[in-house]
Amino acid sequence: HLDGAWTRRWIEAVAAAVSSRKAELTALDRAIGDADHGENLDRGFQAVLGKLDALDDGATPGAVLKLVATTLISTVGGAAGPLYGTAFLKGAMAAGERDALDAAGLVEVLTAARDGIVARGKAELQDKTMVDAWTPAVDAAAAAGDDVRAVLEAAAEAAQAGAVATEPLVAHKGRASYLGERAIGHRDPGAESTALMLRAAAETR
Ligand code: ADP
Ligand code: MG
Ligand code: MG
Repeated sequence: HLDGAWTRRWIEAVAAAVSSRKAELTALDRAIGDADHGENLDRGFQAVLGKLDALDDGATPGAVLKLVATTLISTVGGAAGPLYGTAFLKGAMAAGERDALDAAGLVEVLTAARDGIVARGKAELQDKTMVDAWTPAVDAAAAAGDDVRAVLEAAAEAAQAGAVATEPLVAHKGRASYLGERAIGHRDPGAESTALMLRAAAETR
């Protein structure tokens, strides 16, 4: 049941996963960026954890997502801060005042999040960015049917496959685009952090 309490548990799981995989995310960014992606996200999600307590118990999914958005925007910086901030903000708007998300609502939230990232960052598929994880995830989620657990699992699997599939690509957006062919063979850090977030969602009960 994807209510506000579930949304909060998901965000706590993301914070824990980012924290335990911080070095790995930063190592991906060291290869084709500036070696700060893990630290950036960890700083942001630790700040989110500090603010979740202030939400009331009855907070809706949208209220939780909005708190994540505003906190990431003010604490993460770089490329990923505004992009993930926009994703969570658009997701919050799509969730609206609903007390819980069913499969269709979940797909609406994921689609709005992806659309927000694309509107903000202007990346196309295969530009070697987090969009390469988000778009297959949204497509798989939309095709997964009426069961929320199936939607979450489909999104998580597709995002991970999308992140792996960034490895052979040349980047056309973000810092990795300065490297030209030297980016080939390296996984995009933002695509991997997207896969991490959606995997955490699939594992949150
Ligand atoms: P910075 O590059 O400013 O140090 P981060 O290291 O936190 O920021 O995030 C880098 C990630 O941001 C990249 O791996 C990529 O997935 C994502 N990214 C960068 N530019 C764009 C863009 N225009 N659209 C979508 N994602 C982007
Ligand atoms: Mg970076
Ligand atoms: Mg940076």
